[in-house]
Amino acid sequence: MKIDIFGLTIEALTEALASKGLKKFRAKQVFQWLYQKSVFDFAAMHNLSKADIALLEEHFTVLPRQITILREQNSSDGMTSKLLLGLPDGNSVETVLMHHDYGYSVCVSSQVGCDMHCAFCASGLKGAVRNLTAPEIIAQVYLFNERLRQRAVEAQQSKPEMVSRVVVMGSGEPMLNFDAVLGALDFLHREDTCFMSYRNMTISTCGIIPGIKRLEEQGKPINLAVSLHAVRSDLRTSLMPVNKGFPFVDVIAAAEAYSQAGGRQVTYEYILLKDKNDSVQDAELLSNYLRYKHASVNLIPANPVPEQGFERPSKAAIERFVKVLAKNRINATVRKEMGKDIDAACGQLRAKFAKEQEQK
Ligand code: SAH
Repeated sequence: MKIDIFGLTIEALTEALASKGLKKFRAKQVFQWLYQKSVFDFAAMHNLSKADIALLEEHFTVLPRQITILREQNSSDGMTSKLLLGLPDGNSVETVLMHHDYGYSVCVSSQVGCDMHCAFCASGLKGAVRNLTAPEIIAQVYLFNERLRQRAVEAQQSKPEMVSRVVVMGSGEPMLNFDAVLGALDFLHREDTCFMSYRNMTISTCGIIPGIKRLEEQGKPINLAVSLHAVRSDLRTSLMPVNKGFPFVDVIAAAEAYSQAGGRQVTYEYILLKDKNDSVQDAELLSNYLRYKHASVNLIPANPVPEQGFERPSKAAIERFVKVLAKNRINATVRKEMGKDIDAACGQLRAKFAKEQEQK
C-alpha cells in the first residue's frame, strides 16, 4: 500500500520519506513543490534525482492526484469555477472558486452530504455520508492553486496567484467535523504553505453552539458566519431542525460571545424566502435581535431548489427588507450571486449530479 503524503507537516513528511531512504533535504524540496508551487507529480519536481523520483513513485501518493475531476463548470462571466471531485473512496464533493476584485476565494465542503436537513438546502437531501479529512479539505484549495499556476504559465505571467481566502460554506456542517476543519485551516495558515491569514478564513455554521465555543477557545481570528435564516422559533425550526437542539437566541448569544472575545464581527446569513421570512415584521424582529451587536447581515435571495418548492422574493420585497434593516442601523448586504448559471450557488451543490446519476 502506498502512503499518501498530502497534508503531512514537514516533520511528518521528513519521517515518511526517511523511512524509504530519502534524505532530509528532499522532504523540504517535496514540501515546497507541493505547497508553494502546487505541483503534485513527482516526475515534474525537477530538482529531485531520477532515483529519488522513482522511490517516491514507488512508495507514495499525493491526494490531489488521487482525486478525479468528475465535472468542471465555469460560469459564463468567467468569475466562478466549480469542480465536482471524485474522492478515492468513490464519494464526491463540490468545491467552488470565486474570483473577486480582492483575489481568489474558495468555498470548501467539510462533509460528504449533510445531516442538518435544512428545508431549503440541496446539500442535505440524502444526509451526511462521512466527514472529510483535513487533507481532503486542503486539497480542495490546492486543486485550484494548481489551476491558477497552469493559467499563469499559459498567460506567461511570472508569479501565479494563489487562493487567498477560504470559506467553509460548501456542503456539510463544519462544526460537526471540527478537528479536520481546524486542522485544514491551520495547515493553510502556515508560512511554508499558503501563508493565509486566519482573518481571511470563515467558518459558516447552522448554529452548533459547542462548536462556536470550541472555536472561541482556539483564540484565532477566524471569521464566524451563522446561518440564521429566521427569527421566529416555529418558523426557524420548520426550516432548520437544528433549532430544536440549539435555539437561535442561544446561538446569537454564543456568536456574540465569540465576537466579544476575538473582536471579529459575526456575519448572519439570512436567506430570503418568498412569503416565509421576508416580511417587514421579520426585518424588524431581525433588527431587534441584532441591534448593538458586533454583527452584519448577509441577505441571500433564495436559490431555487426545485425539490423543496421555495421561491425567491421579488426585487421590491428584497429592497423593502433591506430598507428596514438600514433604518434600524443594521449593517446588511445582499449577497452578490456568483455562479448561478452553473448551480454553484449556495445550497445547490452536488444534488444535481446525484440526481443525474440516479436517472442513469
Ligand atoms: N452548514 C453550514 C455551511 C453550509 S451552508 C451552514 O449552515 O452555515 C452555506 C450557506 O448556504 C448557509 O447559509 C446556507 O443556509 C445557505 N444555503 C443553503 N441552501 C440555500 C439556498 N437554496 N439558497 C440560498 N442559500 C442557501
